[in-house]
Amino acid sequence: MMAKNFDVVVIGGGPGGYIAAIRAAQLGLRTACVDEWTRADGQPALGGTCTNVGCIPSKALLQSSENFDHALHAFGEHGIRVNSIELDLAQMLKRKNKVVRQNNDGIVYLFKKNKVFFLHGCGSFAGGGAGAWQIRVAGDAGETLTAKHVIVATGSKPRPLPDTPFDNKYILDNAGALALAEVPKRLGIVGAGVIGLEMGSVWRRLGAEVTLLEMLETFLPAADETVAKEAWKIFTKEQGLDIVLGAKISHIKTGNKEVSVEYAGVNGEHKLECDRLIVSIGRIPNTDGLETAAAGLKLDSRGFIEVDADCRTNLPNVWAIGDVVRGPMLAHKAEEEGVAVAQRIAGQHGHVDFNTVPWVVYTAPEIAWVGKTEQQLKNEGVAYRVGSFPFMANGRARALGDTRGFVKFLADSETDRILGVHIIGPMASEMISEAVVAMEFHATAEDIALICHAHPSLSEAMKEAALGVAKRSLNF
Ligand SMILES: Cc1cc2nc3c(=O)[nH]c(=O)nc-3n(C[C@H](O)[C@H](O)[C@H](O)COP(=O)(O)OP(=O)(O)OC[C@H]3O[C@@H](n4cnc5c(N)ncnc54)[C@H](O)[C@@H]3O)c2cc1C
Repeated sequence: MMAKNFDVVVIGGGPGGYIAAIRAAQLGLRTACVDEWTRADGQPALGGTCTNVGCIPSKALLQSSENFDHALHAFGEHGIRVNSIELDLAQMLKRKNKVVRQNNDGIVYLFKKNKVFFLHGCGSFAGGGAGAWQIRVAGDAGETLTAKHVIVATGSKPRPLPDTPFDNKYILDNAGALALAEVPKRLGIVGAGVIGLEMGSVWRRLGAEVTLLEMLETFLPAADETVAKEAWKIFTKEQGLDIVLGAKISHIKTGNKEVSVEYAGVNGEHKLECDRLIVSIGRIPNTDGLETAAAGLKLDSRGFIEVDADCRTNLPNVWAIGDVVRGPMLAHKAEEEGVAVAQRIAGQHGHVDFNTVPWVVYTAPEIAWVGKTEQQLKNEGVAYRVGSFPFMANGRARALGDTRGFVKFLADSETDRILGVHIIGPMASEMISEAVVAMEFHATAEDIALICHAHPSLSEAMKEAALGVAKRSLNF
């Protein structure tokens, strides 16, 4: 075994880890990244959950299934007659896998370009201390590395229901949900959060009857109430997602090629029979194989690696970022922390503003928001004004044929400073960036209202909603 000395060893090559490694290398630090993700053919697959079984494949399938849905239901309106439409699910999955592979390969290229040393295998703490941590790499690499700094970016894994392990045949986690070889006739989903809604949308569009069982009695509680209400209407009435709120699962039985789910609802006991069941009830931090106890790395009561505001752990020169630490489980949050930590190690300033992390649900229409919701402002006793603009009144949305939803601005009553922006509508994921920029620069609603937006564009709805804060909308 050969010893290799590095300034920084990153454990985990997801969006947090690979970005941290690239930034550290850019700053002149000798950097290695250890990642254990292995494809079916035994090859490494950099990019973590996000690239392999999360953000990227889900968005690929959301796009493909939306195209299919448009061909079935929307082309006629545009004057496009298609005589027969057939689903080729095998091709759809092949395309998804190709998109994933392109992203895997992209990271390999970026590592080469930035001179990040990559090792495929499981990384664990094997001794040492401040300034000279030893990281053992099991697997192909089979080496022990010495690192001045260690960044732990080992991500998260799906949370199973008690006594119901994932088999990815009938009881599916996110990986199983993204790889179903045929469309189930009846699909059950436990959890109507972001992942449940995205997966439900994909398989509903492809023809499954979808029932979502949600334990909470409120739909999308983290979103602004008006947005959640609009989304509920569209998903249940227009799109036929059957969403049951307040459903407490009591028993799950698999057998006879189906899954039977018993649950207590608001009005008594119920049973859902389905062909497949996706369980999307949240994710748990992944510290498997790291040897945290032997190293003395402190975890909190929920198993997350404990860190301070700057992502420092209790061990000197050991940092942790992304899903394995507190905060929202989002790829862009992990990336921001990765960059900030690399900069801190290099003696520079690191910056992550948790108040301006955008949230997106990639349903159709998309939902995106940043900052405070109206209910939060009410609870906090903040005086605010609301400006709202429907896509129905936006020329580009009409031309697109997608006029559902609205943009809503919340601004401080006194200072007009933007406190939150909430969008449900086409391309909300892209439009929310304007709001993030505005909030980072402490803009007022009037600032956005004074800026020239291209016509016709969906972004004009942002300007109109900002104008609406002062009751000055022009097109509504
Ligand atoms: C279906 C789905 C859809 C999602 N969609 C979105 C979305 O649209 N937008 C968004 O922002 N977020 C989305 N997420 C969340 C996002 O994927 C995560 O927040 C993000 O991947 C976290 O990045 P990370 O780097 O912390 O961890 P991960 O991406 O989980 O990467 C961790 C990596 O570390 C490796 N690893 C673990 N332990 C070790 C070890 N001991 N040694 C070596 N390697 C190890 C793992 O194999 C993995 O490759 C989605 C998640 C799912 C499941």
